[in-house]
Amino acid sequence: MNRADFPILNEKVYGKPLVYLDNAATTQKPQVVIDALNDYYLRINSNIHRGVHCLSQLATNEFEQAREAVRRYINAATTQEVIFTRGATESINLVAASFGRTYLREGDEVVVSEMEHHSNIVPWQLVCEERGAKLKVLPFDGRGELMISKLQELVTDRTRIVAVAHVSNSLGTVNPIEEVIRIAHDHNVPVLIDGAQAVAHSPVDVQALDCDFYCFSGHKMYAPMGIGVMYGKNKWLNEMQPYQGGGEMIRDVTFEKTTYNDLPFKFEAGTPSVGDVIGLRKAIEYIEGIGLEKIAAYEQELLTYTTEKLAKIDGMRFIGEAAHKTGVISFLVGNIHPYDMGVLLDHQGVAVRTGHHCTQPVMTHFGIPGTVRASFALYNTFEEADALVNAVMKAKTMLS
Ligand code: PMP
Repeated sequence: MNRADFPILNEKVYGKPLVYLDNAATTQKPQVVIDALNDYYLRINSNIHRGVHCLSQLATNEFEQAREAVRRYINAATTQEVIFTRGATESINLVAASFGRTYLREGDEVVVSEMEHHSNIVPWQLVCEERGAKLKVLPFDGRGELMISKLQELVTDRTRIVAVAHVSNSLGTVNPIEEVIRIAHDHNVPVLIDGAQAVAHSPVDVQALDCDFYCFSGHKMYAPMGIGVMYGKNKWLNEMQPYQGGGEMIRDVTFEKTTYNDLPFKFEAGTPSVGDVIGLRKAIEYIEGIGLEKIAAYEQELLTYTTEKLAKIDGMRFIGEAAHKTGVISFLVGNIHPYDMGVLLDHQGVAVRTGHHCTQPVMTHFGIPGTVRASFALYNTFEEADALVNAVMKAKTMLS
């Protein structure tokens, strides 16, 4: 689908056509996004929000239009709830630090799931340690599905927040976040959703979900690296302490007392990555131009097709067999080390990820050092799926 829009896909590695199946790590960029970045630096590069001069106003305008594009994309109620960050990691760190500073007290509890990316574990550990709070873990089962019934017991009157991934990056599981949110809200506990692996693969409506925070990165949705979003409900953002101090986030500064700027600027200290924000808008428009429903349906076909073909390989073991998955396939073959498999796939032009995928607790759960992970984006083809399957078979023969 729309392959010709992505120039890098014409590259060759070791003289072989590139088969790029590491999209959960980062997606490639369409020409329109690359052009938008170029155009920004060629035409309007300048600092925003404070200049009276023409370029600054043009850049400010584009920057704020991008915020509106993000608002529309996730259906936030207002642009005040859309905070630009460097990525999902910074978004979660922002919430953990600011929310923690404002609401966490000694003996309070934070709930995360066992399948979280390290970036939705470590920031909470840091703030729990600082505030004397406790981190509790919602487990998953052998198929890689959250044991949602246990959430009822885990959420107590000391729980201050629940933080869960929308989609697991190492298992591909699409979590029942509506249910997580309903259970948490029944106890008046807010919920943060890590949407890093979801936003490019299915529509997200933060108002329909009623989540309190939703975090994601641009680079996993065809936008430049170094840009991300933290969506937060107005009521929390108004109360929460700022994350970082600096220019832009203030109203008045004296040595005695500083007052903070309105939302969203209160959480955007310093000069932002203006060109990348503009690139993110282009990526959003690009996705909208194709349609997320269409992308989701196509990636599901690729997932089913590839899973069925891989399953025929003797010794194939899938890690993550949830009923509801996105285009992420984690696997092991016999007792071949994932790293060895990854290297041999690479030599055949097939780019996959190997290792723990920043989810060490998931690997501990299964008692494995890591997995080989193939992950799809809208531009992948059935021929590439075949290339993966053939490369795995060849590598298996060589390594057995
Ligand atoms: N959460 C999940 C589920 C992810 O897959 C990733 C990236 N692998 C992150 C968070 C962190 O994203 P980033 O490195 O772009 O900040």
